[in-house]
Amino acid sequence: MNFREAFLQFVWKFQLFDKTELRTVEGDSVAIFHLGYQNTNAGPDFLEAKILINQIQWHGNVELHVRSSDWVNHHHNQDKAYDNVILHVVWKCDKTINRTDKSAIPTLELHNLVSPEIVLRYQQLIKSKDPVIACANQFEKVSDIVKFDMMDKMLTRRIEQKGKNAASLLIANNNDWEETAYQLLASNFGFKINSEPFLMLARAIPFKVLLKHGDSLFQIEALLFGGAGFLNSIDGDEYYLKLKREYDFLQKKYNIQSLDVSNWKFLRLRPANFPTIRIAQFASFIYQRYSIFTFLIELKANSNFIKELQLKASDYWQNHYQFNKPSSKKEAKMGLEGVENIVINTVVPLMIAYSKERSMPELMEEAVKILEHTTVESNKVTKIWSQLGLSLKSAYESQAAIEWYNYYCQQKNCLNCNVGVSIIRQ
Ligand code: SF4
Repeated sequence: MNFREAFLQFVWKFQLFDKTELRTVEGDSVAIFHLGYQNTNAGPDFLEAKILINQIQWHGNVELHVRSSDWVNHHHNQDKAYDNVILHVVWKCDKTINRTDKSAIPTLELHNLVSPEIVLRYQQLIKSKDPVIACANQFEKVSDIVKFDMMDKMLTRRIEQKGKNAASLLIANNNDWEETAYQLLASNFGFKINSEPFLMLARAIPFKVLLKHGDSLFQIEALLFGGAGFLNSIDGDEYYLKLKREYDFLQKKYNIQSLDVSNWKFLRLRPANFPTIRIAQFASFIYQRYSIFTFLIELKANSNFIKELQLKASDYWQNHYQFNKPSSKKEAKMGLEGVENIVINTVVPLMIAYSKERSMPELMEEAVKILEHTTVESNKVTKIWSQLGLSLKSAYESQAAIEWYNYYCQQKNCLNCNVGVSIIRQ
């Protein structure tokens, strides 16, 4: 489907044409009772329409094309799936079209029925020179209600996608919620840059192994740092060598395949975000936590959930960023932004996936409330929206805005955007 055909579908969907005394190109009167349901799968564009043609009521499908000859160009003339088309709606009729049984399909031509202003507004939008937001110079004029509706739609889309991603991980883990929560959390501890090695680490050291050593932060650290490949050197300070000895023993016991240390990225990271610090914080999180999954899905929006997630790394990491390199004293606690990232990308997706699986709408509501209680994100996309005057007050809104930008503005999907619809319809 090219973009002009998308516009034609838009015109039909919102019935943006003069419907007084409608006639087919063959001269028969037309009255539309029901325009049909838009079909995004294979087959005609609108299904189950009800249309009166020459006083006879028809119930069937509607197909739209820029030119009627596109019917043949798209090979519908050889496809019985199009035999139930009761009306062919075209911008221009340049050919009479028949079904596979040779019966003629009534054709409605629109090019004289759509106001030039609507066409102009559509063209201005799609030809916009603004490389980021096509409607940038008109956005301010659109009512807040339209924007809020779009935000709600986008948040629903975003959390559904996050829930689906968590559900896919669950399937890969044979429906084990505990391992799924652990792996999801691990990949978020790595943030974008070390997310993949963190996930590899969580797969190399399953949560059920850590659970056997849940009362010893030292052993959890040995398993995680050893599994990550950080304990391969024979030299080091006292703490390092102690961890190494412990890991050598546990590695044999559990037959662990350590990662290659080269998987971890330090370049361009602030020391507080080094993977060594993140692993130490992750170890503290695991320590004495016998069900990560239960802990995460039981977090409440009205509790201090940020504090509950913001754990301090062990003493060694209070004056080290890497092994064997002492630094000045600091508090190796994850920053607010890091914790909020975990809330958005681990806690909320888990809650959504579980609420769907167990039909627990109250858990979905809690997930949404948690987003409402989480600070708005600050990134390239949220800055673009702020410059347009869209005020974002919480992660609920920034998540919606990110989805909107990525899947609508970036894809030039303006005809399916409430703001785009509002601008063209006016
Ligand atoms: S998708 Fe909507 S908000 Fe984005 S550029 Fe198009 S009309 Fe504007």
